[in-house]
Amino acid sequence: MRGRIPDQFIDDLLARVDIVDVIERRVPLKKAGREWTARCPFHDERSPSFYVSPVKQFFHCFGCGAHGSAIKFLMDYERLEFQDAVEELAQSVGLKVPYEGGAERPREDKTDLYTLLDAAAAFYEAELPKHAEAQAYCKRRGLDAETIKRFRIGWAPGGWDGVLKKLGTTPQRAKLLDEAGMVSSNERGKYDRFRERLMFPILDRRGRVIAFGGRILPSANPAREAHEAGAPAATSPKKGDGPKYLNSPETPLFHKGRELFALWQVKQANTKLDKLLVVEGYMDVIALHQAGLPIAVATLGTATTHDHAELLFRAAPDVYFCFDGDRAGRSAAWRALESVLPRLRDGRQAYFLFLPEGEDPDTLVRKEGKDGFEQRLKQAMPLSDYFFEELAHDVNMASLDGRARLAERARPLLARLPDGAFRDLMVQELSKRTGVHAAAVGGAAAAPAARAAPRAVAKRSLVRSVITLLLAQPKLAELAAPPYPFAALDKPGIGLLIELLEIARARPGLTTATLLEHFADRAEAPALHKLAVVEFPGDGDDALRTEFLGGLQRLAEESNQQRLLGIQDKIRREGLAALSAEEKAEYQALALKKKNQDLARQSRT
Ligand SMILES: [Zn+2]
Repeated sequence: MRGRIPDQFIDDLLARVDIVDVIERRVPLKKAGREWTARCPFHDERSPSFYVSPVKQFFHCFGCGAHGSAIKFLMDYERLEFQDAVEELAQSVGLKVPYEGGAERPREDKTDLYTLLDAAAAFYEAELPKHAEAQAYCKRRGLDAETIKRFRIGWAPGGWDGVLKKLGTTPQRAKLLDEAGMVSSNERGKYDRFRERLMFPILDRRGRVIAFGGRILPSANPAREAHEAGAPAATSPKKGDGPKYLNSPETPLFHKGRELFALWQVKQANTKLDKLLVVEGYMDVIALHQAGLPIAVATLGTATTHDHAELLFRAAPDVYFCFDGDRAGRSAAWRALESVLPRLRDGRQAYFLFLPEGEDPDTLVRKEGKDGFEQRLKQAMPLSDYFFEELAHDVNMASLDGRARLAERARPLLARLPDGAFRDLMVQELSKRTGVHAAAVGGAAAAPAARAAPRAVAKRSLVRSVITLLLAQPKLAELAAPPYPFAALDKPGIGLLIELLEIARARPGLTTATLLEHFADRAEAPALHKLAVVEFPGDGDDALRTEFLGGLQRLAEESNQQRLLGIQDKIRREGLAALSAEEKAEYQALALKKKNQDLARQSRT
């Protein structure tokens, strides 16, 4: 995908945007010398180790190692794909992204998909007022016009081809509908996936429709009610039949394990968010929003995944999981706990709220109002309490055996927690409850990880030094020109150095970040970023220039020496006569060069 956007455009784009600007709009920055600094948005910390360099046009965190260009920042912060990050940046400076290779243009297809799904949402919205039963249902559930509009709630009419007829007007559009998951098919042909359902559009993090959830209306028909209670689905697709909730399938735009219903509306309603509430159903989310708690989201017919957990904690430090008090609710809660454990870095907290049986957030918030529900949130169980309570529920803590079993169960789970104060506390707590020594339980408390000294500069090889200088100041590349006298040097990194020189020479004015962006997909990227962070404190341009030229000179000498030794070796093995005429000439030239270099070095020292 990346290859479809020309490198030249990425260069131009990064030259147009200012990374300080891009980041400042999302994370407040403070000036610190030549750089800007903030508390890192990618890991929790008390003192800032996140730096943004206006000169190098990149960001770097000395705490967690996050780093990269403005594009990379958007990808990490907004969780965008590469293309979307590029699109977003391009839009902010009024550039249009060109795509290579005309015939197949995935991005344009995607744009079409967004447009089509948006049109489908508008179609359903327009259908809602025409359908009395759906209207009555909304009224019964207390949904006001404002809420219906904000969530773009609609109605999928009965029949088989409402959407197909309205939007699938050309073969191309019909194919897109299929791709967008709006169409089902059986032996008799294609038909609308959603029929006689209340429709909830699912929006992505940029507010675009990417999928739908559809709910059948509860009816007086007892067969239908039995169905809602989990009776097996009918085999033939009768209209309006099927599961209570039906979601779009996985499509190029929609991956249910990575999306949260209403996260967009939550972000629209809150500029600063300190807690999020995860509930199970769309109607629960909507009722909470309407009641004045626009902090509710839902997973989309799936258990909470690691991706969800990360998404949730990126949005807010405290996440409340709300479940039914029944057995199904309890087991869903435990699965949620397991998925958040690896994401519980310091500063993030998870809580569990179990509702009385027979109640859900929708019914409760309508009964108790915003204040009542907030009161319940205050009484939610912190993850640590829930964790130990649940693990110990069938264990006799009075017996040694029972305590050993608890320790046994907890150990692998605690091992999934990231290093940090929270993990240490959990390990201590386990040791307190079981009497098993902390070191035997998890050991985290025993050995705090040695923090790498920030900006410690390791001794670098010559090639690495030259690359480091070039990364600090890409314009130094102008001082070198092919044929590079060190090109034949057999040493790790030479090929990379030449590649860097070539890119920087071809694009004058290139910044560090832009240069690095050319290597974003490569195995060398992390190593290059490490070198790019190195500072040359107090050194002016002249000093860097001299050091760079000196480095290139020594590389040339090493290359020379290596070739000379190679020829000498051949002479030793095969005799002088074995050399070709060219090799002899080269040998003489090299020997002369070496003599001159040695003389020059003597006069320098
Ligand atoms: Zn960080």
